[in-house]
Amino acid sequence: MKKEQEIEMLKEFSDANSTSGFEEEFVKLFSTYAKNTADITVDGMLNVYAAKKENKGDRPVIQMDAHSDAVGFITQAVRPNGLIKFVPLGGWVKYNIPALKVKIRNREGEYIPGVVATKPPHFMTAAERNSIPEVADMSIDVGSSSREETIKDYKIDTGCPIFVDVKCEYHEKSGLFFGKDFDDRFGAGAMVDVLDNLKGEETDFDVVAALSSQEEVGLRGAYVTGRKIKPDLCIVLESCPADDTFEPDWLSQTGLKRGPMLRDMDTTFLPNPKFQQYACDLADKNRIPYTRSVRTGGGQDGAAIYYEYGAPTIVIGIPVRYEHSPYCFSAYKDFKASVDLATAIIRDMTQEKLDSFKEVI
Ligand SMILES: [Zn+2]
Repeated sequence: MKKEQEIEMLKEFSDANSTSGFEEEFVKLFSTYAKNTADITVDGMLNVYAAKKENKGDRPVIQMDAHSDAVGFITQAVRPNGLIKFVPLGGWVKYNIPALKVKIRNREGEYIPGVVATKPPHFMTAAERNSIPEVADMSIDVGSSSREETIKDYKIDTGCPIFVDVKCEYHEKSGLFFGKDFDDRFGAGAMVDVLDNLKGEETDFDVVAALSSQEEVGLRGAYVTGRKIKPDLCIVLESCPADDTFEPDWLSQTGLKRGPMLRDMDTTFLPNPKFQQYACDLADKNRIPYTRSVRTGGGQDGAAIYYEYGAPTIVIGIPVRYEHSPYCFSAYKDFKASVDLATAIIRDMTQEKLDSFKEVI
């Protein structure tokens, strides 16, 4: 794809309203892009399977993975004063939530603007000024004055999903995107771009790009995509938290404009070591920058897929600053390098190389 097309796609992807269990808007958008190069099917959990058009059906399969959901919230109940009590979907930290601008999808499918209500400082006690309330005590205000008004007029009640409302911007001079939900819309964008790079090309493997749902609440969709595809090899395209603004240089392992992060460990996953080294060597050969990382936190779909079928799996991580917050930075350069590496792996992969990842003697 041309750079302008990629930038437009990533902005559109970032702006889409999609949180765990409510991925339909993004599923539709992703499918619109991927259908030029792949045959699309969607299962009942809203996992998308984009099978490269040149697939033959009788060859080993490379699964690419990205996820369609992002952290968000769900309406638990409407309080007597009309404010909404909500529950987080995915891994939020409470200090990122107050004063957040959100949209709630009501019973009729309309998006209603709201804000996570905060008490004006004028009314706060000294103790309140220095503490953050528990999420269970926070509320979203849509401007209503009673429970009845919120339910009857705004048509918001238990189960309505709540999305972060931030519009993505791209700054040509810095080469940076600024917006929300880059985790994992940039991974999804990378899959579209890899399929586009391989359009009309013969590869040794069938290729299926799987867009999984409900990753942020426990990798749920990827368990299903892995079982359905039964991959022989898997490349996870995941947007990964950058640490370059709070770790010292010697310990920083994921930073803006340093290329994708190849994950050596997180709390759920250790990659196939030979596949990991092969990916690093191929990146070196193609002059694609990358970093390697050992993480003591986090997890991703690779765990669900790898541990189901034992297919050699790696994670190509696109660095994102301030993941799981409403405002993130990510570099176009890193997106592109991730696409280049995944494309190079698929083009270069042979049965012999795949077999070598499993050799122990
Ligand atoms: Zn993610």
